[in-house]
Amino acid sequence: MRIDKFLSSHGIASRSEAAKAAKAGLVSVNGEKVRDLSRHIDPERDVVTYDGEVISYNEYVYVMLNKPDGYISATDDPRQKTVLELLDDRLKKRGLFPCGRLDIDTLGLLILTDDGQTAHRLISPKHHAEKVYRFECISELSSLDIEKLESGVDLDDGYHTLPAKVQYEGGMKGYITLTEGKYHQIKRMFAAVGNKITYLERVSFGGVVLDESLERGEYRYLTEEEVRLLTKND
Ligand code: URA
Repeated sequence: MRIDKFLSSHGIASRSEAAKAAKAGLVSVNGEKVRDLSRHIDPERDVVTYDGEVISYNEYVYVMLNKPDGYISATDDPRQKTVLELLDDRLKKRGLFPCGRLDIDTLGLLILTDDGQTAHRLISPKHHAEKVYRFECISELSSLDIEKLESGVDLDDGYHTLPAKVQYEGGMKGYITLTEGKYHQIKRMFAAVGNKITYLERVSFGGVVLDESLERGEYRYLTEEEVRLLTKND
């Protein structure tokens, strides 16, 4: 891989910024200053330093964000704040995108990555990745409502939902687990049983659980174990 490509793909510097930095003697490979950034390196073996910092090689980046209210799950939008705005510049430059979508007012676990293949597989309906949501609704759920939500309801466009799991705690609160993700799905499922969602937070996705130490708007890199859960082929 070219040195300038390595630096730009890691969100360190654009090609032109890197060229300037190299001229100023700020880029080294294995301890030697380099000026020609078209030189190829082996990113897994060579040690690249930029302005004194060793840049460790990651083929892909995976981040968990605790999504706050008021942000849309898109990479850019002319009118509304996007979840990308919550990331630091380095991650922004790296070109991460959200793995699936949460509504603007839905909170909680959003995975962002630049691993297109894994993201695509996880959101594909064929993969059936489990997504667990904490919900609150406006009126009590009856046993019949729960049965309907679990076995599948007809949404307003006629789509019949796949089986879901509901853990109802009473008091108009509980958890619902889906293996699909249609537009506004949970809100529309609750509407189908004459109810209304008043709070929705995703707490788990594909076996990765939202880290409770993250405040709303905060994020962290996934651990190796969490990445393994998402990237394993089944
Ligand atoms: N279902 C919804 O209605 N909204 C979400 O954001 C996710 C699932």
